[in-house]
Amino acid sequence: RQHNLFAALRAAFPANLDEVAIDTDSGLAYSWRDLERGSAMMANLLQGLALPPGSRIAVQVEKSVEAVMLYLATLRAGHVFLPLNTAYQAGEIEYFVGNASPAVVVCTPKNFGWVSRIAFKAGTHHVFTLGDDRTGSLLERAMHHSDQHECAVVAEDDLAAILYTSGTTGRSKGAMLTHGNLLSNARVLRDYWGWVPGDVLVHALPIFHVHGLFVALHGALLNGSRMIWLGKFDARLAVAKLREATVFMGVPTLYVRMLAEPALTREAVANMRLFISGSAPLLIETFNEWKARTGHTILERYGMSETIMLTSNPYRAGDGERRGGTVGFPLPGVGLRVRDDHGQDVPVGEIGGIQVRGPNVFKGYWQMPEKTREEFSPDGWFKTGDVGKVDAQGYVTIVGRSKDLIISGGYNVYPAEIESCINEMSGVAESAVVGVPHPDFGEVGVAVVIGRPGAQLDGERLISTLKAQLANFKIPKRCFVADELPRNTMGKVQKNLLREQYRELFA
Ligand code: ATP
Ligand code: MG
Repeated sequence: RQHNLFAALRAAFPANLDEVAIDTDSGLAYSWRDLERGSAMMANLLQGLALPPGSRIAVQVEKSVEAVMLYLATLRAGHVFLPLNTAYQAGEIEYFVGNASPAVVVCTPKNFGWVSRIAFKAGTHHVFTLGDDRTGSLLERAMHHSDQHECAVVAEDDLAAILYTSGTTGRSKGAMLTHGNLLSNARVLRDYWGWVPGDVLVHALPIFHVHGLFVALHGALLNGSRMIWLGKFDARLAVAKLREATVFMGVPTLYVRMLAEPALTREAVANMRLFISGSAPLLIETFNEWKARTGHTILERYGMSETIMLTSNPYRAGDGERRGGTVGFPLPGVGLRVRDDHGQDVPVGEIGGIQVRGPNVFKGYWQMPEKTREEFSPDGWFKTGDVGKVDAQGYVTIVGRSKDLIISGGYNVYPAEIESCINEMSGVAESAVVGVPHPDFGEVGVAVVIGRPGAQLDGERLISTLKAQLANFKIPKRCFVADELPRNTMGKVQKNLLREQYRELFA
């Protein structure tokens, strides 16, 4: 049987292939036929290279519709798509290309010189270029190939993609995802989020990560939905495009930036059906402000490179309310449990490590069998590395990452609890609490606080306010006021950088 993800996506294309599939911000309209033909030509190009089965196609290019075609072509040809963050520099690319030993590397035309050198050293023989303005050798070469292509037959368990994790807690790991992983999750989300004919998605996210590549793209393709394509996120343009759309997906910072646009009004979103947030915690303030401004309740969901989507707040009112600060319920087919350090289930509402299983859970980390073994429990559940709890109604709340947990004088301190207290204080926009070494307590918390525009914050005063609200062992020993928090491209706060910065504070 055919388990190729592309076959399932293709089957969902509208009957009339001349309808518009993607409208871009550079004024181009791509039809479904364009996606079909372009990906067929690229698939033929790849197949003409006669690569061994399981070959990786590593891709570091700016966001473009042609890059989507390349992704689809890789699936069609039965190869493994390996997208790389566009922010990565030479040293990082050297690591990823060396680690993944791809058969093909596709890069931005202006990077060809240094990327091809790295690829050459790693033994990669095929380097193509692809610009975001329809330039580059990939398109030139693909033009000479037929636009008819027979989709490669693959098994459910065959690799479709390797996604490197965001590297928030350490060096990125390559998560191996199968056709079965991707398709099962895409189908669950299509049903759970109530995709309907006529939906239009504003695609505003990068496509080298789960959120933009799988959740957003598969969502639209599997529903035959038109996409409004933003090459780079621009808050004003995004708000303007909501008028023609019904679905939007963003990381929390995108919502914050759209809230700063006066054009964001109830009228501007009158056509919208659903706003989805994920990849990092959505502040309750943002959730509330969005509701007050637009009348829409953002639906927050939770997932990761290794598992695609795991939990979601309900879409239909009958399934419960969308509760801010939580990530909702485990998706259909996903098992989720919370365990303590001894591998025992914790009581309802108590905090512990989140473990999951389901058809969406990855095959393991690329070339890291040890690490893969460590991250699975003896009975086969994946340890997410996230710490959280499940309440009596089944709502899941993430309180942080196990690596960010602070153990102070023998007590567990959960940064998220302290951050939410700080965030509620007047004048505070956001905050991050990290643990740093301390001679007496082992570790203590240090808070970094960002003020709202014009606010005069005082670290000492914030600490004394906190003392009236929290047990003494939870109180950060120092509180710094800063202009911004260090974030990676997915809007995740890089706590490792903060820990590094304040490491010697009490030494
Ligand atoms: P690395 O694994 O390399 O340290 P990473 O975990 O940030 O990086 P991703 O797989 O891109 O890499 O991100 C998944 C993580 O993002 C989850 O484990 C979780 O910590 C966080 N996350 C995703 N969605 C949410 C959410 N809605 N609320 C809170 N955290 C979230
Ligand atoms: Mg991770």
